[in-house]
Amino acid sequence: MRLVLVGPPGAGKGTQAEFIAVQFDNPKISTGDIFRANVSGGTDLGRLAKKYMDAGDLVPDEVTNAMVRDRLAQPDAMGGFLLDGFPRNVAQADELDGMLAELDNRLSVVLDLDVDHDEVVRRLSGRRTCKRCGHVWHIEYDRPSTGGICDKCGGELYQRDDDHPDTVRHRLDVYFSQTEPLVEFYRGRGQLVAIDAQGTVEDVTERAIEALTPFAD
Ligand SMILES: [Zn+2]
Repeated sequence: MRLVLVGPPGAGKGTQAEFIAVQFDNPKISTGDIFRANVSGGTDLGRLAKKYMDAGDLVPDEVTNAMVRDRLAQPDAMGGFLLDGFPRNVAQADELDGMLAELDNRLSVVLDLDVDHDEVVRRLSGRRTCKRCGHVWHIEYDRPSTGGICDKCGGELYQRDDDHPDTVRHRLDVYFSQTEPLVEFYRGRGQLVAIDAQGTVEDVTERAIEALTPFAD
């Protein structure tokens, strides 16, 4: 199965990606992992990407596309893959079509993890991070026994800037303005399957597996 996973920050995409990859025995390919592998491996593309990152600039699409193309051509991705973080926009989706066509392949399905806006804000803005060990707690779903103190190490908890409600809302706006056209693009081609990503991790995994099974070969 050649699968693309999309979903807003706070939808639990990373967690679900791990479970889905294991269930269908396909490698999980995330742009973050590809970047790190190229940079630490000192590839030409990695050196190029690092130049941009060191200067505080975004890595241009051509560089990202070339890294993804290399990764998809590796033997372990021939039988299928789960892409996380790519494509981010319609232009990259066109690129992906081209890469797969070169390999005589096409995308099987795009899974959209659907969550309510307010629910995402609640999930992310409830997070509290330990200053000492970095463990992330949640004031509703995973609260430490003494408020404000980490159960693991006794460190003080704080709210990261990223997790402030205003920042979360801004991140969501950015996500939806970029990704909504992509979701519509795949919906128009009949390749989009959306599932309700609210509820427990186990429930969402079950829904994802049920939705994807018809596409597994
Ligand atoms: Zn701690």
